[in-house]
Amino acid sequence: MKSTQSLSTTCSLMCALLLGIGIVGTVQAHEASHTHPVKAKAATRQVGFQLIRNATMKLTYAGTTFLIDPMLAVKGAYKGFDGTPRSELRNPLVDLPVPIADVLKADAIILSHIHEDHWDPAARYLVPRTMTIFTQDEKDATKVREDGFTDVRVLTEEGLDFKGTRLIKTLGKHGSNHFFAVPQLAELLGDVMGIVFLRPNHPTAYVAGDTIWNKNVEDALTRYQPDVVFLNTGYAQINGFDGSIIMGKDDVARAYRFSPKASIVGVHMESVNHAMLTRKELRAFIDAQKLDKRRVLVPNDGQSYRF
Ligand SMILES: [Zn+2]
Repeated sequence: MKSTQSLSTTCSLMCALLLGIGIVGTVQAHEASHTHPVKAKAATRQVGFQLIRNATMKLTYAGTTFLIDPMLAVKGAYKGFDGTPRSELRNPLVDLPVPIADVLKADAIILSHIHEDHWDPAARYLVPRTMTIFTQDEKDATKVREDGFTDVRVLTEEGLDFKGTRLIKTLGKHGSNHFFAVPQLAELLGDVMGIVFLRPNHPTAYVAGDTIWNKNVEDALTRYQPDVVFLNTGYAQINGFDGSIIMGKDDVARAYRFSPKASIVGVHMESVNHAMLTRKELRAFIDAQKLDKRRVLVPNDGQSYRF
């Protein structure tokens, strides 16, 4: 993995610099693309990644750019989530690191689920109606189509091809059983998916989505042997409940140990009120656990890597 500029074109970089809002990511040198020994062919191409903010990220495979879970509102646009810690704060907690026009330069959007911190009113308004959008199920697809989007496709566990990249739905759970024992919470948390990106001679990427660490995650890691794993590690909480509805720092260590060849990337931090784990805490944990920092990464908003 190598660091790259967070903005892809000179024009957008210049515009951003003029506006003073560009963030150029730099990370320490990292080995080139990881390859799992069980793979028949070595990965010869690289996958581009840019964290936008929260769970919003871009992945680029062979010139195809996927925008995942776009939350595009300006800082403070929405009330904090009721019944969660720090709900007096307004979401998003921070602004986008790059212009919206650059975020929207994508060939398709993938929605891991449609909670408002993954598909917000701003994104629903700003994304062109003809954009290809992948959802986890027909229920979400119907809601997306109701906004006038004309090319909404449902991902499956068998996978769909899009411009030569295989997109595979993986399962997850947006909180442990004690959350789902409360019917209203079960309804609110709902279904979620992760996504595996497969392409010949490319690193395999796995975006776990808004899930806790569970057997679904272990199964995906075992089955697909991803080279790079993106985890939502903000440890989002709900008042009155122990534990969290997404992953946290311990899950970074779990993934690191479970998939010893994979790069682990933590996102979904410091952008919404109820996500309680900070990057600073996660980085301190990585130091304390003596995890290899070339293999476990905590990007800032706007930061880019290549795998
Ligand atoms: Zn979320």
